[in-house]
Order: sequence, then structure tokens, then C-alpha cells
Amino acid sequence: MSTPARYDVAIIGAGVNGAGIARDAALRGLRVIILDKNDMCSGTSAISSRLIHGGLRYLEYAEIPLVYESLHERRCLRRIAAHLVKPLRISIPIFKGARRGPLLIRLGMIAYDILSFNKRLPRHDMLGRDEIKKEEPGLRDEGLLAAARYYDTQVTFAERLVLENLLAARSAGAEIKTYCEVDEIRSCDGSVDSIRYCDREGRAHEIAVDSIVNAAGPWVDEVLKTAPRTPKRFVGGTKGSHIIVDPFNGAPKDAFYVEAAADGRPFFIIPWNDQYLIGTTDIRYDDSLDNIRASRAEVDYLVSETNRVFPDAGLTAADINFAYAGVRPLPYREKGPESAITRRHIIKVNRKIAKGLISIIGGKLTTYRNLAEQTVDRLAKILRRKLPECRTRDTLLPGAWGIDRARQQLIASKIVSEQAVERLLSIYGGRAAAIAELAIANSALAATLDSEGRYLAAEVVFAIREEFATTLEDIVFRRMMAGFDADQGRPIYAAIAAQAAAEFGWSSDEVQSELRALIDYADSLHVVI
Ligand SMILES: Cc1cc2nc3c(=O)[nH]c(=O)nc-3n(C[C@H](O)[C@H](O)[C@H](O)COP(=O)(O)OP(=O)(O)OC[C@H]3O[C@@H](n4cnc5c(N)ncnc54)[C@H](O)[C@@H]3O)c2cc1C
Repeated sequence: MSTPARYDVAIIGAGVNGAGIARDAALRGLRVIILDKNDMCSGTSAISSRLIHGGLRYLEYAEIPLVYESLHERRCLRRIAAHLVKPLRISIPIFKGARRGPLLIRLGMIAYDILSFNKRLPRHDMLGRDEIKKEEPGLRDEGLLAAARYYDTQVTFAERLVLENLLAARSAGAEIKTYCEVDEIRSCDGSVDSIRYCDREGRAHEIAVDSIVNAAGPWVDEVLKTAPRTPKRFVGGTKGSHIIVDPFNGAPKDAFYVEAAADGRPFFIIPWNDQYLIGTTDIRYDDSLDNIRASRAEVDYLVSETNRVFPDAGLTAADINFAYAGVRPLPYREKGPESAITRRHIIKVNRKIAKGLISIIGGKLTTYRNLAEQTVDRLAKILRRKLPECRTRDTLLPGAWGIDRARQQLIASKIVSEQAVERLLSIYGGRAAAIAELAIANSALAATLDSEGRYLAAEVVFAIREEFATTLEDIVFRRMMAGFDADQGRPIYAAIAAQAAAEFGWSSDEVQSELRALIDYADSLHVVI
């Protein structure tokens, strides 16, 4: 494909929103380029609770349209990304003296069911104290009154959802540039004209563009500072952290949504990737946006609240496998409680800075597709183009095609165990068939990298050739998803590095430097005890 002299749109930021916009815009025929200063999905989209949810809590703030939109999008994502988005049953225990009593929870559940009308997941049910104790014997006895149970959905690896949007965008003609930081937005006669970006080798490039979507998440204001006129502040983030632990004594079967005793905020305890994902916190944040880590106070809060609800857990900071943290790119509000800041997105047309510039403020993983549709509709007006209808509502993401065929092919090839086949399908969907083909064509790639036979050498090659991974960290944490195993996939780092070195032609110094960077990153997710 030849590089156009001028792009219709440059998208800054390959998180879920940028990737969704790139897919939608490319499918509607726009010439698209999307850039990220790091790998794709290395910002906020990788540090979420990983729920595709209606946002039960937003009902408390009467954000009915947001809940409705989210539930609608939840259904849509179940259709277009069925291999990535799975139903999740969630229990809400109700304790004596809690801020939210049985009546309020019940009303919330009924409202959620009504708004979920026609959305295909089972309705809520209310359980008496004995019923919930029978199902979840580890749950605290003291003060337990009842529990509510409802369904939402979970995307175990949001990284793969973002990736598949980018792959779809690329198939529709979009150009993807990772490790390319946009450092200047230029205008001519009041309209955007070009962007300058710096690649990993420090080389500067300029490209001509007719419009720009600033989808830099919490970095939106930083990006706007590179424009000809610096505006007021748009984003005022709150920090959120999660801890990840192994199954613990008395751990629940279902996900739990619990009111914290310390501050009355609800938080999640979610079965995730054979471990438990516990979070989140919600703290106003004005510090550096890069390399954010969970603080000791946040870790202690999440550990002690979990121990309170599941008293046999006896968790300490030493039981944490790893933790991650980031900043919600919420609209800036000077005052007021963090939890009350709207979670709705704003598509801000920055015409006072330069015509043709749009910034995305806020948004959820759950609603990215709709946000993208609305943004491209807005772009059509800005570009004065009559674009075709949006197709992303019904067009399956690349991995959602051919899953049964891929399963049959993998089982017939006998390359990996049936359990490993299911892992491959849950990560790559129907695209796992291409991994099988690589392994069948080259027996060296049929080798497994770990003692349990879960990871295939072919996956490394696939990540590099088909999924534009360029570093070991990309491969381990955002393609094969081995980085989120309890041991962070450490036993297979050397084998992955050897495979990647053969593919890229790395020298032994380059391999060592890549390995060091990978281990540093994995270490950075450890909590300080
Ligand atoms: C703790 C927490 C829990 C959450 N849980 C959920 C949940 O369960 N469900 C849900 O629906 N939502 C959840 N969210 C919200 C959701 O994760 C985010 O709103 C969403 O991921 C934002 O995506 P984004 O694409 O706008 O931003 P990001 O994912 O942050 O992407 C922005 C990208 O821009 C890039 N960038 C920045 N500056 C530049 C530059 N100069 N040049 C090039 N690239 C640049 C960054 O590297 C980054 O990759 C949660 C958020 C948090 C913080």
C-alpha cells in the first residue's frame, strides 16, 4: 500500500478509543494514520477493571443515559467480540449498617434489569443470608443480611480488544505507527495542517493531515500543549489501582462488588485469569502521567477490605502477584467528590485551537465503539464529506470469525493439549487457525515454550509478523498475554527472546537489552513490601 501524501485523519493515541476510531474511520473509507508514543494499549486501557459493564454505580448519580448506552454496547460487544467478552455473574453482599441497604440495592437491580431489557443476559436475583452463605461459604457472617446477584461481562484481556480494532483498521487501509510520539500539531490559516512525530530512533517526521483526533486519554492536555494555541485544562484524572492475587482461602466463585468499610466506595473482587483482580481506588491525581504505580496506602486499603469481606483470606501485601495503576481521563472538575465526576465521554471540537482538531475526553472501555461512531460522524462534518453508514455495530472483529473451524484445526493438528487449544482460542479467537498453520508448516514453531505446554513458539512469530509487536514487552504483555500469569510468564522469557531474536535478527547485545527491559517492566508491577 502506498503512503498517501495527505491523510484525512491522524489519530493520536492507540488506546481503546483511538483504536475504535481508527477502525470506524478506515471502514468508512477515510485515509487514516494512528500513532502511539508506546505500544498500542499501553495506557489507561490496560489498567482497567476489565469489565464491559452497564455501570450499576452510575445509577446512583442518575447517569441513566450512560447506563443505557453501556448496556447497549455490552450487547454489541458480545456479538462482535464473543471470543473476548464473556458473561460474568456478580454478587453484592449486603451488610448491616452499610450505606446502601437492601431496598436501595433491590431498586438499583430492578432499574438495571429494565435498562438491560432485550440484552440477553439473565436478570438479577436476591438471595437470603443462608442462600448466599451456602453458595459462598467464605463470605463474612457478621452483619450479613442478604445478597443481590446480577450479570455483566468481562474482557479478560482488554489489550486483545484494542489490538483487534487496530488489525481491523489496518485491513481497511489504516496505517499504524507505534513508538511514535506526536510532539507538534501545526496549523495553517487556523486549520490543522500537519503533525510532527518522533520515532523510537529519535528521527523527526512530518505528515500532512486534514484533521486530527486527539485520543491520548489522560495525556490529552499534554498533546494540546503542542498545538499553536494552548487551551484551558480539559482532563482532571483520578488514579485507580488494582492488585492481583492467587485464589485465597474462602475466595468466592463469583465476582463480588462490595462496599468498602473505610469510605463506602464500592470495589470489585473478580475471578480473572486464574487469579483474583481486586480494585479499584479512586483518588484525585495531578502528578506525572507516566509509569504510575499503586501506592502502599492503596494496596493496604484493597487488602484489608478484601480480608474484611472474606475473613479466611488472611491476605498481606506479600501475597500480591503484581499490581497495576493508572489515571482515568475524566473531565476536569476543580471540586467535588471523585466518584461524582461524570463517566460520560465528551467529544470536544477544538475549533478555537485549530479547525479540524477533536479531543476525546473520558469514555469507558465499554462504550468505545459508540464513541468512535460519534467521533467519525463528527469528522464527516468537519471534512465536509458524505461518508457511508457506520458498520462497526455488526461487523465482527477479526478474531470473532471462524472459531469452530480453528478449534477443529488445532485439535486435529495435535500440536497442543485441548486445554491449551482453549487458551489459544480465548486469546486469538478464529485467528488461532493461522498460528496452527505456522506450526504445521514449520515443526520448530510447533514447540511449546513452557513445561505445561500452553505457549507455542509460533505465537511469538505470529505476534511479530501479524500483530506488529516490536519488543519483548509487547509480545509478553500485550500479544501472548503471558505477562499476566501469576509468575508474569518469567519462566518463558528466555525462550521467547530466542524466538524473537531469530525473527528480528537481533544481536546478542540486543537480546540482552530487550530482556533487561522486559524484566524491569515486570518488576515495576511488583508492590513494594
Ligand atoms: C482504574 C480504572 C478502572 C477502569 N475500569 C473500567 C472498566 O472496568 N470498564 C470500562 O469500561 N472502563 C473502565 N475504565 C475506563 C477506561 O479504561 C478508560 O476510560 C479507557 O481505557 C480510556 O481509553 P483511551 O483510549 O481514551 O486512553 P488510553 O488507553 O490511555 O490511550 C491513550 C494513548 O495515547 C498515547 N499517547 C499519549 N500521548 C501521546 C503522544 N504525544 N503521541 C502519541 N501517543 C500518545 C498513550 O501512550 C496511550 O496509549 C477504567 C479506568 C481506570 C483508570
